[in-house]
Amino acid sequence: MLKPFPKPIYVTRPLLPNLHEFHKLLSEVWESQWLTNNGPKHQQLENELREYLKVKYLSIFNNGMTALIAAVQALELTGEVITTPFTFAATPHAIYWNRLKPVFADIKSDNLTIDPLSIEKHITKKTSAILAVHVFGQPCDVVAIDKIAKKHKLKVIYDAAHAFGTEIKGVPIGKFGDITMFSFHATKLFNTAEGGALVFNNSKLKKSIELIKNFGIKNEREVIVSGINGKMNELQASLGLLNLREIKSERIKRQNIRNTYARELKGEAGISLLESPSGIVDSLQYLVLRIDEKVFGISRDVIYRELKKYNVFTRKYFYPLCSDYNCYKTFPSSSKNNLPVANKVVKEVLSMPFYGALKETDVIKICDILKSVKELRINSKRNN
Ligand SMILES: *Cc1c(COP(=O)(O)O)cnc(C)c1O
Repeated sequence: MLKPFPKPIYVTRPLLPNLHEFHKLLSEVWESQWLTNNGPKHQQLENELREYLKVKYLSIFNNGMTALIAAVQALELTGEVITTPFTFAATPHAIYWNRLKPVFADIKSDNLTIDPLSIEKHITKKTSAILAVHVFGQPCDVVAIDKIAKKHKLKVIYDAAHAFGTEIKGVPIGKFGDITMFSFHATKLFNTAEGGALVFNNSKLKKSIELIKNFGIKNEREVIVSGINGKMNELQASLGLLNLREIKSERIKRQNIRNTYARELKGEAGISLLESPSGIVDSLQYLVLRIDEKVFGISRDVIYRELKKYNVFTRKYFYPLCSDYNCYKTFPSSSKNNLPVANKVVKEVLSMPFYGALKETDVIKICDILKSVKELRINSKRNN
């Protein structure tokens, strides 16, 4: 009989640097008395991230959602923006906060990203852009989306909150679309506690994004747009500088953990790991299982509940769909008929504990518990 874990196992743990090292950087901040407004740590972090993500321009923000709101502003979008319902709340909210209308397109069953065929069906005279999400680090169909955007003269923003370090056939994920957003929230692979960034290839955007990020202040005499406060402070930038050095070893640990999950669950009918196709460098931010209830015999929700009894806290990302939120459910594009794949997938996915410090023996035990849940099926059949 398997015993519950003595301490809770959560879906993730934030990457944290050595506290002594952090203290050293904070001493420098104290010495300089420069706490925010494009300070030296902020500048250094921007440079290091630009190199790490291999992009031309990068602008750090205080969180991913502010960055997304600023991206919509910078591209001067209007009317309707086509997006996915299978994402975190920040994605459609960033459209809505710009007083634009999110229009939901369906997703693809294989990698859960927005379906280009469904995008095309939702284009109207009012459509100004596509806001696509590299969900769970799985790259969108960037070639097809680019084609649609060119044909209909639409802008493209990518939400790459899950895709830090993802590459498509050697091309860094930040190279696609007009603007790509990253989130550095504590739960993401790379974190600054709260934080984010926009990356882009157009030099003209650099000026407007910097302006929007800093209240629209051009100089001491002129405020030229109604901007926002999107600045990151020196304390968080210091945390980022140290965490960035840990990413390489964190990713190696996570790759090993992923291999263990894959090995332990191999051949388990009805359970599969969401995996990147060949040619894709995976961000390793999430470990997502898909549960086919008909084959496994037990639903995702029951697995989620049973694992909790053993002190294993998984997450049903991204349940509920954004199209089911009170604020969006009355939109015509939110109807279940319009989003059949998203409505099916959202009942199948389960994000499992996944972080570098997770022990291999714990992963094996989590998989054993998962496999033992099947016995409920046999018992429930007997009782019937
Ligand atoms: C985390 C996340 C964001 C941004 O979140 P912040 O907490 O504001 O940094 C945006 N989109 C997705 C898909 C996310 O998971």
